[in-house]
Amino acid sequence: MLTFSRSYTVDITYRCAKRCGYCIYRRDQGGLIPLSRLEAQLDEAARVGAREVLIMSGEQVWLLPDLGLAGEADFVERVADVCRRALQRGLLPHTNVGLLSGESLKTLKPFNVSMGLMLESGTDLLRAHAYGGGKRVADRLRHLEAAGALRIPFTTGILVGIGETPADRQRALRLIAGVQARWGHIQEVIIQNFVPKPGTPMGDLPGASLEDMRETVQLARALLPESIVIQVPPNLLGGDDSHRGDPWLQLVRDGARDLGGVSANGDSVSPEKPWEPVAVMGEKARSIGFRLEERLPVHAGIDADLRPAADELRRALVGDVVTYVVCRNVNISNVCVGSCSFCGFMRRTHSAAGAWHHDDTTIFAKIEDAVTRGATEVCMQSGLQPALDLVYFEDLFRRIKARWPALHIHALSPEEMRYIAELAGRPASYCIERLRDAGLGTMPGTAAEILVDEVRRVICPEKLSTQDWVDVLRAAHRAGVRSTSTVMFGHLENWGHRIEHLRVIRDLQRDTGGFTEFVLLPFQVEHNALGRHYGITRSPSLDETLRYTALARLHLGADIPNIQSSWVKLGPAGVTESLRWGANDFGGTLMEESISRASGADHGQNLEAAEIESWIRRAGRIPRERSTTYGEVTRRPRDELLDGAALRPLRVAGG
Ligand code: SF4
Repeated sequence: MLTFSRSYTVDITYRCAKRCGYCIYRRDQGGLIPLSRLEAQLDEAARVGAREVLIMSGEQVWLLPDLGLAGEADFVERVADVCRRALQRGLLPHTNVGLLSGESLKTLKPFNVSMGLMLESGTDLLRAHAYGGGKRVADRLRHLEAAGALRIPFTTGILVGIGETPADRQRALRLIAGVQARWGHIQEVIIQNFVPKPGTPMGDLPGASLEDMRETVQLARALLPESIVIQVPPNLLGGDDSHRGDPWLQLVRDGARDLGGVSANGDSVSPEKPWEPVAVMGEKARSIGFRLEERLPVHAGIDADLRPAADELRRALVGDVVTYVVCRNVNISNVCVGSCSFCGFMRRTHSAAGAWHHDDTTIFAKIEDAVTRGATEVCMQSGLQPALDLVYFEDLFRRIKARWPALHIHALSPEEMRYIAELAGRPASYCIERLRDAGLGTMPGTAAEILVDEVRRVICPEKLSTQDWVDVLRAAHRAGVRSTSTVMFGHLENWGHRIEHLRVIRDLQRDTGGFTEFVLLPFQVEHNALGRHYGITRSPSLDETLRYTALARLHLGADIPNIQSSWVKLGPAGVTESLRWGANDFGGTLMEESISRASGADHGQNLEAAEIESWIRRAGRIPRERSTTYGEVTRRPRDELLDGAALRPLRVAGG
């Protein structure tokens, strides 16, 4: 796979305290770009669908007296302010504003998903850096090390062809490898070719040759650890004879795996070299056997601290309120003809030990009990079986709504809906519309597991495919039936699959806008065949879960602002911690939960609203009850019951 990031460049100022021989970015006049212009650019970045905002400037600009900056901290505060404004639009800042102190990096860390600084070279003796200001390797290494100590996901790189020798390049790469060995925070190294620019002191020199670039990419691949991805800019090679015919493809063959940020508003460092459209680059990548995929400005596998940026993005998008819903799970039956290997819930037949199937009396008693206790939602998911067909649910929903018109019915996973459609011999869209008219409010976006077919073929081969899942929920969203989205992770999938899953969900959301939230469900290892068969001995750790929570927050951004952690799986203390990693929803009171518990989750089956609120307050946040679709709760189904005096909590039997 070959990756790129959909970015947008925002320049704080084109001024610079240095004067490099190859640079056309730097200007002698002008000041800080007005905030109003930067705001307009951020608006445009959000509009054109950029994910990353590359925030740039010249180096050490606070040293230029006419800019009126009080010092480095003053400049950094301005950069942080721009980052904050980017986060408020769901954009992910990646700041590269030249050399900074450790203190400044610390200030900027919470507002950046990643940061960057080119090492450029392994020597101080370059003419390119002798025109003013200089660029000392030791200073730049100190910056890289400080970012490492702060565990900031980091991008660095070297320039090829600015007068350095092959030995200098080798030294630079070894220095980067050394920093990585100490901190592990470097996610990518850019191998960038020098391009002579007319009017600059080095304008008459030849650009880096393809041979030098190839050699350097191969050397980088040999010297740098696998954890570092090698990036080459696809727009900077080409234009003279040695670079004819998309030379970046050759560099991909040599080991490069990333094309960097493809900026929607051009490259302010090399404006004369526009990027080709992504579709064209994708086509070219395919011609040499690579799939071009969009990525975030932070790589999934990086050993760095994602928490502050995820937390800051959460604050920017949804504030400090943490929501929950008062709901009850009512699972009708655990008898299921399906065969998912991770499920400890289902029984094959009604006569199997532990099988249960609730009749109407029990179902209505459970709902009545829930309504009495203040539930606004009933969540119904069950096994697949011929008796639970379109007519059954249509009738059930109608009767529930007749009794409790204000109760929200959240029911039928995409897998159940597909099965109902199959039984009915009609398209899912037809069944969804009929069930909507009978009272179905929203659907749980469960049965997603990991939306990558190579994983699904192993863990749930008979379950609906990724495309089917997307198609059922697209039909639901189009019919006005919104849904949640979920992931079940920590079994056989890798980080690449987890990120791909987020991409599938985000793409559908951009198409329909129908998802209300994203729910993380760590795989429960006990009582199911998948764990036993593949020797999976533990569920994902809290650390891993928190990390994925942060990545989900960063990846889904403003597309899905509500991220939920499951207290059934993590426990209330785990969910409370996740609120610091990007989550903003505590889920539901549930009142009873059979599916996760049957598969090994051990966090009970009911959490009172008061307990949830107390956990949320303990995290320093503001609790708020919400409706299923994140609206305000203005009235409760029980208020509508005429016989309120007769309401009593009921004891009900069964699962
Ligand atoms: S390359 Fe960077 S440091 Fe050098 S003059 Fe240009 S903006 Fe300044």
